[in-house]
Amino acid sequence: MADNKGVFGIKGIFGDKNAGSEQAPAQPQTTQQPALDPTQVYPVKAEEPAAPSMDPQALPEIKQMLQNAAAAQQPASLAPAPLAPPPGLEFLNAPAAAPTPVYDPNDVNSIPLPKSQATRESEAALKKANAAAAAAAIDTDPKKNLTQPTRIGDKLVSEGIISNDQLQIAMKIQRNNPDPQKTMLGQILVELGFITESTLAQVLAESTGVEKFDPKTTVLDPNIVKQLPKNVATRHKVIPVMQEDNTIFLAMADIYNVLAMDQVQRYFPRNFKIVPLYCPEGEVMDLIDNYYDYEMSIDGILREIETGMSSDENKITGEAEGYVNPTVRLVDALLIDAIKRGASDIHFEPEPAFVRVRYRIDGNLQQIRSFHKDYWSAIAVRMKIISSMNIAETRNPQDGRITYNVLGREVDFRVSSQPTIHGENFVLRILDKKKALVPLESLGMHPNNVAILKKLIKRPEGIIIVTGPTGSGKTTTLYSILNFINAVDVNIMTLEDPVEYQLSMIRQSNIRAASGMGFAEGLRAIMRQDPDVIFVGEIRDHETAEMALRASMTGHQVYSTLHTNDAMGAIPRLIDIGIKPQLLAGAIICVIAQRLARKLCPECAESRVATPEECHIMSIDPTKAPMIKVHKGCEACGYTGYKGRVSVTEILPVDKELDELIATSATRHTMLEHLRKHGFKTMQEDGIGKVLDGITDLEELISTIDMTERL
Ligand SMILES: [Zn+2]
Repeated sequence: MADNKGVFGIKGIFGDKNAGSEQAPAQPQTTQQPALDPTQVYPVKAEEPAAPSMDPQALPEIKQMLQNAAAAQQPASLAPAPLAPPPGLEFLNAPAAAPTPVYDPNDVNSIPLPKSQATRESEAALKKANAAAAAAAIDTDPKKNLTQPTRIGDKLVSEGIISNDQLQIAMKIQRNNPDPQKTMLGQILVELGFITESTLAQVLAESTGVEKFDPKTTVLDPNIVKQLPKNVATRHKVIPVMQEDNTIFLAMADIYNVLAMDQVQRYFPRNFKIVPLYCPEGEVMDLIDNYYDYEMSIDGILREIETGMSSDENKITGEAEGYVNPTVRLVDALLIDAIKRGASDIHFEPEPAFVRVRYRIDGNLQQIRSFHKDYWSAIAVRMKIISSMNIAETRNPQDGRITYNVLGREVDFRVSSQPTIHGENFVLRILDKKKALVPLESLGMHPNNVAILKKLIKRPEGIIIVTGPTGSGKTTTLYSILNFINAVDVNIMTLEDPVEYQLSMIRQSNIRAASGMGFAEGLRAIMRQDPDVIFVGEIRDHETAEMALRASMTGHQVYSTLHTNDAMGAIPRLIDIGIKPQLLAGAIICVIAQRLARKLCPECAESRVATPEECHIMSIDPTKAPMIKVHKGCEACGYTGYKGRVSVTEILPVDKELDELIATSATRHTMLEHLRKHGFKTMQEDGIGKVLDGITDLEELISTIDMTERL
């Protein structure tokens, strides 16, 4: 290991595969417990069975108890690892599956404790003791009434994680403490090696509703961290990890430490709420070391790299672990920055002398930074490590994936590398799960279109096709529809290439074309799974089209996508790939075409009267020129004038008459005439409506949608 400081930096952030073999870094033990040597470092891992050095003089009673326990010994399970559950209840701690420990008769901690000796009497005694302890806790601190920390012991025993005897020992130590209410029973059990910190965390989370904070899968927000001074964080062993609206999440080991929370509150606005997340003390201290001692801003890290503060070869190869390595921090910082700015992709593009970093925001690429080429190989290696790519491979394209918790939400990154003449090009696609599921009403569709769509998706069988180029929001729309129709009485199954966002209660499958599981094969398999609704990622060939249409005519609702310019284009497209017009006619419910247009930034958009040319494009009488809004640019929108996107949509419902026209291969013109009579609005018209409503501007609309016939 490179250095101790880095342990959790690397493990914490990147989920090091060797995590299990590493020892938690030493932390000064500061809790006041006469039973335990305060200078001693207590191991927290199950695989570190070294006993805490108990002073037998100070604890004759406990020693006696341990001896009794040993004397009454039965072939029991554990000392350092969680106890095996009673026979028949093994499933209770299946994941703990510790190897049978070897006992050292001289080591109090390794003495197996008889779980089956737990008589009803001792259980009753225990309950009484617990009740007394809980009552004591209630007496001393009214704020603790809700939590009743001692109940953790009951829960651990009832789940077979520790024995009654182990609990008695821990409670004895707690009682002998001069300030029993300030000593957590759970922590004592960990220090005794009876349970691991992660077991404690799990049980605490279950019994109190306090969630566990896992630094291994989370990237902290340095801006939030630094609002709390390091000395305060260190004193209370807490670290603010993220913010969600007016809530600050505070990682801490002692989630009952109301005093610490009060102290932290002072550093945040008054209306902010501090919510504790359980995190083992050792991990909190590591986070404090990492996030306070190292430069975390992108500029700062780049400066650090440029000025050679980290010129140590080992550190810039990308393989040195932990936050001591600036490339580790740089990649983290870029991921956070990209998500904060709402980017959908991060591009790392090597040029002869430098590497350019660009984000795709609202569909457009924006240059963010560039840095010297010298550091590129280190950063590339870093990204390969985190996304489980082969570090040694530089001549062939690769792809990988990472899931991080960033800014309080789970985000997937799909990473791909492509060798170019100037080095490996990297693109990280950001799949933000929070953004994926948008209610139907919030897609930005015109309320009329939402109403039409809701009516159409009630039809029990038939196919609904969404068309548009890549990046036009087809998947988001389909996910919204699937989520809208999802109910306990419907079986929804999907075939995707690949699954971008996981939806709950929907069976999603990946296409694996390489192993012969294409859309057509997948569809055949799905049909045997009794589906009601099927989502086929894309119709690319005749076989898939034919099967999807047949499915839609045999009592299934089918959703799919096609690449066509507009909704009408779907019909000739399907006929082109070999579908008979007669088959098509009976099967299609509707075709939706859509694009995403950038919305005007509300902070800086300017109003003015439309010019005669603009009136012409919008088919408006120039003498009645309306007020429209146009983009300008300010700090809030990164000087682009736009913020967020809205869908511009056309919905083509297929009624009986249109069926007839399709079956007789009518011309596009005839079909359009029919549709017009029934109130069909094209994407252009929908977009113009959004310009007149001040949602977007004409310039953006023209660059998003084919308006040539109006120009
Ligand atoms: Zn703006």
